[in-house]
Amino acid sequence: MGFKDLSVFNDALLGRQAWRLVRAPHSLFGRVMKAKYFPKCDFLEASMGYSCSYSWKSIWSSKALLKDGCIWRVGSGERINVWTDPWVASDEGRFISSDPIVGVEKVSDLIDSRTHEWKVNLIEESFQEKDVESILAIPLSCLNLDDEVTWALTKNGHYSVKTAYMLGKGGNLDSFHQAWVDIWSMEASPNVRHFLWRLCTNSLPTRSLLKFRHLIDDDGCPWGCGAAESTSHAVFECPRVYDVWVECGCAEMCTDASSLSMCDLVES
Ligand SMILES: [Zn+2]
Repeated sequence: MGFKDLSVFNDALLGRQAWRLVRAPHSLFGRVMKAKYFPKCDFLEASMGYSCSYSWKSIWSSKALLKDGCIWRVGSGERINVWTDPWVASDEGRFISSDPIVGVEKVSDLIDSRTHEWKVNLIEESFQEKDVESILAIPLSCLNLDDEVTWALTKNGHYSVKTAYMLGKGGNLDSFHQAWVDIWSMEASPNVRHFLWRLCTNSLPTRSLLKFRHLIDDDGCPWGCGAAESTSHAVFECPRVYDVWVECGCAEMCTDASSLSMCDLVES
């Protein structure tokens, strides 16, 4: 595990403390931190401030990771900003993509407070089709529940260090791939899972990658086939490797490899 991985891991661990500030603001820890560092807003809006302790700085630094992985669960809609908060679940992300319109600010503006149903007409008039679909797909409760921040990468909505780490390694949630979830829940040895995950995040130490990072000068395949050793070359395309795939009856894997991303390949 390189240094970079450790720093992401550290953020993921600190994220657990930060998550407590989001989810349990009335705990002793939550109240103390709030009084001291963000008396006028929520943790997710808090700025770092000037004079602050090492522990606050550390927790605060994991906020970006937290924001990347969270999604609001709609209750009354009063705390959720329609245009800037993550609250819809669509293929293209957790944010509304339509242009903002005057008079609609909070999600509660889109909910009929009497019937606890979506204002379908207003939504259809104000949003693009795909936003309309994702909004109307969100179930509303008539119990007038509070809005809740949940973790988008786990089924139960609870923060997990493992998924936060994956997120930190792989960029933002909207490019987050289902393949990663599949990989980590696979019943295989940790080495296999780790290998597949590095394959998908393009972080296998191939010669092309090492050259890209200025660690070596020559990115040629060590089997001497003359090509550069990229990830797909090392795992699928090199003639030496290709023969192995053919022998175990999986030649079509190599054909697919040229057209699919590694994530799609693992998922298929
Ligand atoms: Zn080769």
